[in-house]
Amino acid sequence: MITLRTLGERRPDRSTRHGSTRLTGALVAIAALGTLVGTLVGAVASDPAVAAHGGSAGAAGNYGSAISTPRVDSYYPAHGNDVVDALHYGLDLTWHPHKRSLSGTERLVFRAAKDADAIPLDLSNALTVTSAAVDGHAVRATRSTDHLSLPVAITAGQVHTVTLSYAGVPRPVAAPGTRSDESVLGFISKRDGRAYAMQEPYGAFTWYAVNDQPADKALYDFSLHVPAPYVGIANGRLTHRHTGHGVTTTRWHLASPAASYLTTIAFGNYQQTRLGKVHGTPLSYWTPTDRPELVSWLRFMAKDFRWLEHLLGPYPFDTLSLVVVPSKSAMETQTMISEGDTRGALDEQDVVHEMSHQWYGDQVTPNDWRDVWMSEGMAMYVQYRWLDHVGGYRTGTWVDTETSRYDATYLSEYGPMGAYNPADFASSNVYLPPARMWWTLSKMLGKARFDDLLRRWPASHPHSSQSREALEDWWSAASGRDLHPFFQRWLSATRDPS
Ligand SMILES: [Zn+2]
Repeated sequence: MITLRTLGERRPDRSTRHGSTRLTGALVAIAALGTLVGTLVGAVASDPAVAAHGGSAGAAGNYGSAISTPRVDSYYPAHGNDVVDALHYGLDLTWHPHKRSLSGTERLVFRAAKDADAIPLDLSNALTVTSAAVDGHAVRATRSTDHLSLPVAITAGQVHTVTLSYAGVPRPVAAPGTRSDESVLGFISKRDGRAYAMQEPYGAFTWYAVNDQPADKALYDFSLHVPAPYVGIANGRLTHRHTGHGVTTTRWHLASPAASYLTTIAFGNYQQTRLGKVHGTPLSYWTPTDRPELVSWLRFMAKDFRWLEHLLGPYPFDTLSLVVVPSKSAMETQTMISEGDTRGALDEQDVVHEMSHQWYGDQVTPNDWRDVWMSEGMAMYVQYRWLDHVGGYRTGTWVDTETSRYDATYLSEYGPMGAYNPADFASSNVYLPPARMWWTLSKMLGKARFDDLLRRWPASHPHSSQSREALEDWWSAASGRDLHPFFQRWLSATRDPS
């Protein structure tokens, strides 16, 4: 998620807004959100995992890369479960901008992670399920607040297919935090019919039935329908676009598994600008047709992409794009970054922050919301490095004179970075202090060695969700130093840990 510019009003006078680099407030915390929408037509239909009566343990088929270890989240246990290991979501959705309603079908292939008497999923009560089936057999879904239960007993290791039809006027959910840019989460629509989704730490359930937690990654296909000139946008690669009878249909394929908070969907009047391939990755962005100035401005993505690959290693996905949405926030939605259209959200350093999350947050994801510092702290650190690179601030100066001044305030107000107050999700304490922690570690290990490990951690844990403990163990082993005491001191600190 993007940075909150709540502190540090010092503004370098070299700022130029839509020219090159605009450096805003000295203290910036960034968070990210993602959304996914999808339709799965070919892949699921042809996969053995989707056999009519479910499959055996080996039937994950083409979806083996999406096998996860779902868990009950220690911070937000009401969302997600440890029963369903989602492998593939196929979402075929129609947006009705005048009624601001969503309708469609979902086909979910999942592996039972444990024995259970029923299949639990998260789904907003604002959406009505009109039909449900498991492995081709109709079932009656049981609803409770923002949950769905399908009364079919399942055995650990078996693969099943759930199909649902649903419709309703999506309703976002209150965010568990106090950020000024993001009071609600999930699917959000505007009076004029534009819509988008941002949902960190949860809220995918406001537009599809999902195991809504960061530890369960899945593959996605989307098929989106909306009256022209609007177009539907989601994560992954655009594989089809057609307008007929006044309706635009797009299909999107996400080839690498994503956590539900990193999925996205947007509907609006957009134009796509392609930047061509950079190091083999096609880059593009989608901007509202009434914001033509953004088309040339966003070209910086290509050079920043090159810089990030130099720092963090080869880009981990097969495509990168960005969509500008009517929001005050921004999210690192996987392969399709969501950038708010306000001055506070749409800034080059914000885009760099969300791009850096593709490695830290998307490729390797915290497996529990307790450890959101694992993604936000590093994205913030990379943002400092970028600001240093473009000449805005020396990293050391930034960290020493700016963040250290405020770390104690953040930690006392919102809690330790590794044990924050759950009612203050994504506050500055999980951005700035952990960024300073990484900078301190780089000084301890030496820049060359630290930068090597910086590249190796995501590459060594591709497309997975990882725990704080695994991170501490890996960084200790890879550096040849026992770093557990270091991480413990920083992550549990209630005042300046340096
Ligand atoms: Zn972020």
